[in-house]
Amino acid sequence: MNHDSYFSDSSTHNKLSFLISTRQEIETWKTGRNLASGLPNPDFFPLTEATFTLNNGKVLDISKDLIEVALQYTLPDGIPQLVSQLTPMVAELLAPPHMEERMVLVTAGSNAGNYIIAKTFITPGDYVFIPEMTYPQIHILLRSVNARMVPVAGDQDGMRPDLLREALEKSSDGRSKLLYIIPHGDNPTGITLSEDRMREIYSLACEYDFLIVEDDPYYFLQYDKQVRSSFLSLDTEGRVIRVDTFSKTIGAGVRLGYITADQPFVKKLMIQHALIMSHASPFSQVVTSELLSSLGREGYIEMNKNNAMKYKQLRDMALQAATKHLTGLCEWRKPDGMFLWLKVLRLEDVTEMVIQRCFKRGLFIVPGCEFLIDSTQPSPYIRVSFSMISQDSVDKGFQILAEAIQEELKKAAPEI
Ligand code: PMP
Repeated sequence: MNHDSYFSDSSTHNKLSFLISTRQEIETWKTGRNLASGLPNPDFFPLTEATFTLNNGKVLDISKDLIEVALQYTLPDGIPQLVSQLTPMVAELLAPPHMEERMVLVTAGSNAGNYIIAKTFITPGDYVFIPEMTYPQIHILLRSVNARMVPVAGDQDGMRPDLLREALEKSSDGRSKLLYIIPHGDNPTGITLSEDRMREIYSLACEYDFLIVEDDPYYFLQYDKQVRSSFLSLDTEGRVIRVDTFSKTIGAGVRLGYITADQPFVKKLMIQHALIMSHASPFSQVVTSELLSSLGREGYIEMNKNNAMKYKQLRDMALQAATKHLTGLCEWRKPDGMFLWLKVLRLEDVTEMVIQRCFKRGLFIVPGCEFLIDSTQPSPYIRVSFSMISQDSVDKGFQILAEAIQEELKKAAPEI
C-alpha cells in the first residue's frame, strides 16, 4: 500500500528536526559526548528517588537512574523501555498480522492520539465516517480539521455495514479518508462489535480504500462474552490505526496511551506528536513502565480481568436498578464498557427533561443529543455511567429519572 497517499496536505512535508531524527540525542547523553542538544543537566535535578506502594502491598522503587530518565527529554515515540514492553503486549493480545511492520507510539492518552491522527491524515473536505452516535470529542476534533463527517447508523450489533456502504457510495464526490469506531464497549451505546461485523466493515475499508481508526479504551471491559480480537487483528493490508489508553486500566491521571499502526504511518504521526508536545511525559512513562515490569505482562492482563469483574458487578447493579425503576419507561441492553444507554419510550427528546428535571434534582446524566453531530437535534436516549455507582446512588438516581419521565409524559399527554 502507498502510505504517502493517505497523509493530509498539511502533514505531507512535515519532517523531524535534525536532532530528533538522528535519535542520537538520548543515546549519547549518558556518555557525556552529547554536545549538541539543550538537555537539562541531571546533576541539577531536584528529585533523586521515588517509592510507590501498589495495592497488592508490593513496593516500586524508582532508582536515581530512572528518575533521570523521568525528568529528561526523550524520543517522540516514548521511552525505549516502555515501547519495548508495549510492542509484545499488542502482539500477544491482538495478534495483528505482520506485527514486525508496525510500530508503537506512546501518546498522552487517546484524545491526544486521536488529535494527532486527525492532523496527520485529514485534509479539509475529506469524508470521515463515524457512528451515528459517538464520543463527542470526536465531533469537535473533526470539525476543527474541517472533515466532512458522515454519521452511519447501527443496530443492536453496532455499525451496519450495509449503511456504511450506502454512505460510501454517496460520498463519491470527495476522498473517503477514514472511519472512526470504538470496537469494544462503545461510548455511548456499550455495544461490542462481533468479529463478523468487524470483518464486514474491514472488507469495506479494503474495497473503498479508507483507513480505520479504532479507539479502544474499553477493550478489557467486556462482561458476558469476550471478543478479544479487534480491527488490528484483521488488518492484513496495514490500514488500521489502533488507539489504546491506560486511562481505564492504570488511571486517567497518568495521561498515557499508545498508537499501533504501520511504521510509515507511525513515523508521520510521531512528527505531529513532536510538534505538539515533544513526547508524552517521561515521568508518567517511567512509573507506568516500572508498574508493568512489577506486575508482568500476565499480571497486568490479570489485573484488568479482575477489575472487569468488579465493573461487571456495578453494571449488574445498574441493570437491577433500571429493572426496578425504569421498566415500561425505558429500553436498554446489557452493555460492555462503562455506560448504560437508555432509550426513553414515548418521548422524542429528553434534553429539556434532563436539564430541567434531573439536573435540578441533583441527578447528572448525559442527554443523547450530546452524542450526535448536531447536538440541537432531538434524541430519546440517555447515557448513564455506572463506573462509580453505589447501590444507594443508582437506586435514588433511577427513582428521580423515573419521576422525571412520568412528569414529562404527563405534560405531553395531560389527563382529561
Ligand atoms: N475515546 C473514547 C471513546 C473515550 O470514551 C474516552 C474517555 N472517556 C477517550 C477517548 C479519552 O481517553 P483518554 O483519557 O485516554 O484521553
